[in-house]
Amino acid sequence: KKIGLVKEPAFETRICFLPKEVKQLTQLLEIGVQVEKGLGEGLGISDTEYKEAGASLQSREDVLNNSDYILSINEVTDLMLDGKQNVLIGIFNMLFYPKRAEKYLDKNTTVYSLDLLPRTTLAQSMDVLSSMASIAGYKAVLKATSHYNSSFPMFTTAAGTLNPAKVLVLGAGVAGLQAIATAKRLGAIVEAFDVRKSAGEEVRSLGAKFVEVEGAEEAKDAGGYAVTQSEEYLKKQKELIHERIRNANIVICTANIPGKKAPLLLEKRSIDAMKSGSVIIDMAAEQGGNCEMTQAGETITYNNVTIVGNSHLSREVSQSASQLLSTNYYNFLKYLVQSTKEDDVLLEKSKVIDNGTITKPLLTNKFE
Ligand code: NAD
Repeated sequence: KKIGLVKEPAFETRICFLPKEVKQLTQLLEIGVQVEKGLGEGLGISDTEYKEAGASLQSREDVLNNSDYILSINEVTDLMLDGKQNVLIGIFNMLFYPKRAEKYLDKNTTVYSLDLLPRTTLAQSMDVLSSMASIAGYKAVLKATSHYNSSFPMFTTAAGTLNPAKVLVLGAGVAGLQAIATAKRLGAIVEAFDVRKSAGEEVRSLGAKFVEVEGAEEAKDAGGYAVTQSEEYLKKQKELIHERIRNANIVICTANIPGKKAPLLLEKRSIDAMKSGSVIIDMAAEQGGNCEMTQAGETITYNNVTIVGNSHLSREVSQSASQLLSTNYYNFLKYLVQSTKEDDVLLEKSKVIDNGTITKPLLTNKFE
């Protein structure tokens, strides 16, 4: 069997498989790896490093034509679909972009999308969502500091005292907890909202305050994820956020519900109530945003409040992000190649297309 690695589209700064993992794969699993020339350029990794790790360097066309498994982060739009059987492995987010799946219908292609892996202990070492959320949560706070024109920590100086920044985090999942930890390390005062009760303990253990809204719905079958809340709950929550936001200088938005539009938590009236110079980083931008005024992929200023809509912050920490992704992809690939079970739960959950057939009812959950 042969693995193929091709360059990502121009907007992507991360790489999903680094020389270290190529070496492990070629040595431990005796699998051939073919790499498109120049793959590592963006991260300063030379072709020689891939070669020394055991890969063969080839043209893109040859890699695509001669590989059994193609690994990428984003879609490979020039994949030959009418030739021999392909297995594609990536993070294709087809829940939100079901059209991405349609082109594989009735083709000789099987697609695994790692964003669909269950969040279980067994899948932890392959969990690309956690890896990227962690890095993005950290970067969100650093980004906020660069837009914020006051200090994060308290300064006691001969010229007087500067107050610490107040940070409000919406959604205390993987990204939110990392944002809390980062903001605390910088000396900010932090409070956080989440609909999951269990998040409270984690928030408090990081030294932040957990703001609870009574009456949240949780579902045992949601795999640890949040579920959509009632209108009544969301109204109460928006009201409480509106109250707290007057005090906040920074808001980090991470609240999401898998396969659904992100909950709208920050209304325009709440932004109107914010202090001049405040900063909102909306990491749920691509899923519609937690903040009413967010524009995905844009940084805007409204009423002297900066609103950054960015769901791809891990791309701005590309070396670390690639390191984690490469380990996640390696663990998945190893699992896939060594799997002998017909109905393996991890493989079933992550398989979106099975030899040209869409396997997930999830894909009807359209958000486009
Ligand atoms: P996510 O990105 O889907 O959502 C981010 C957070 O937003 C979640 O904590 C969610 O509860 C919260 N949220 C949703 N609606 C909200 C609202 N109206 N107000 C405030 N917050 C809201 O979630 P995630 O970070 O990917 O993690 C989801 C769950 O999976 C968590 O329970 C996490 O601990 C768990 N997890 C488990 C493992 C594992 O065991 N292997 C790994 C990673 C994550």
